Amino acid sequence: MAKKSFRIVVLPGDGIGPEVIAEAVRVLEVISATSPDIELKLESHLFGGCAIDETGQPLPDSTLQACKEADAILMGSVGGPKWDVNSKVRPEQGLLGLRKALGLYANIRPANFASDALLAYSPLKTHVAQGVDIIVIRELIGGAYFGERKELGVAPKEDTAYDTMIYSVAEVQRITRVAAQIALSANPPLPVHSIDKANVLASSRLWRKVVIETLQTEYPQLKLDHMLVDSASMVMVASPRKLNGVIVTENLFGDILSDEVSVIPGSLGLLPSASLAGAPSVADALSPNFKPTPGLYEPIHGSAPDIAGQGIANPIGTILSAAMLLRYSLGLDRYAQAIENAVRKVLDDKSQGGFELRTADLGGKVKTTEIGDKIVEVLKGLL
Ligand code: ATP
Ligand code: MG
Repeated sequence: MAKKSFRIVVLPGDGIGPEVIAEAVRVLEVISATSPDIELKLESHLFGGCAIDETGQPLPDSTLQACKEADAILMGSVGGPKWDVNSKVRPEQGLLGLRKALGLYANIRPANFASDALLAYSPLKTHVAQGVDIIVIRELIGGAYFGERKELGVAPKEDTAYDTMIYSVAEVQRITRVAAQIALSANPPLPVHSIDKANVLASSRLWRKVVIETLQTEYPQLKLDHMLVDSASMVMVASPRKLNGVIVTENLFGDILSDEVSVIPGSLGLLPSASLAGAPSVADALSPNFKPTPGLYEPIHGSAPDIAGQGIANPIGTILSAAMLLRYSLGLDRYAQAIENAVRKVLDDKSQGGFELRTADLGGKVKTTEIGDKIVEVLKGLL
């Protein structure tokens, strides 16, 4: 029987992007070659600063077209000092344009310890950081970043500026459904923590009301609580395990909280992210009439110009992003788990007397490709 085929667009981007993407691509190729029923067709396209250099635009039409037709997109990182100063077009505009064009409204950032052996790298004390397992779901295309704004010079108050935080019922409903679907995909289902500022903001009162109604009517089996954003930020560093489960929050709060959660594991190089244009499918890629959930997957770190070209970047955040792609866009949870298990095994490997398999960000000496080799080798054994 012919394998079921999926089209994945790869956007290596700038800085360390191409280096870390190369390792994630190898991982996806191993899955594709080993799977009896799934084929992953990978194609690379220009995006970001390198696309500006070649075409004058960070998101060339041909790249956008390929992304629209793809089943999922895997990205490295964009930007760098080369395009920061004199450049009229900036690489980051390509990313905003892509998010908008694809309607990617849900940003998902899991922060857990792939391995207890990593605890030493957390800025939090071990007993505080241990067992943290939080998935932050941030609304990505609404709220204060997209509302009407005015700079100085608005009569009659010329000395003021303002931003508007605005949400509709439909926008809150759809992000709540993403959170619910992700909470339900765990066994037992994860608790949902909705974070707002309902004691002050009207948009937060709407947020809270709609989250409650949506969960009560559509997902009554899920546990839900509410927290104010100021108090949640304290809990996140004082006793983060209290937030274990799924956090769902609006754009501005989510921007801040997802950065806060990302420092807990100790290196930016470890963490993946996903941006989705719909709730993840509950069905699997092999089920009849399966439709992938469009999504863009990328590590949370930037282009890290300080270490680009040296072959020392940690590829794990990008490899775990590829795992998220299989899970959330294609419903292939079993392959996602195999990748995550391979990463954990490699991080926990003590065969040479210590935790040897570490890139420089984690205090080791191992190169990007060597970590990739090891993860691919272990993965082959797990498939
Ligand atoms: P951006 O502005 O592009 O969002 P940033 O400037 O906040 O990103 P990064 O480019 O991610 O941050 O780099 C921050 C620091 O973390 C740098 O010192 C970089 O070398 C390091 N770093 C980031 N990603 C990795 C990685 N995958 N492996 C090793 N070190 C990394
Ligand atoms: Mg940077």
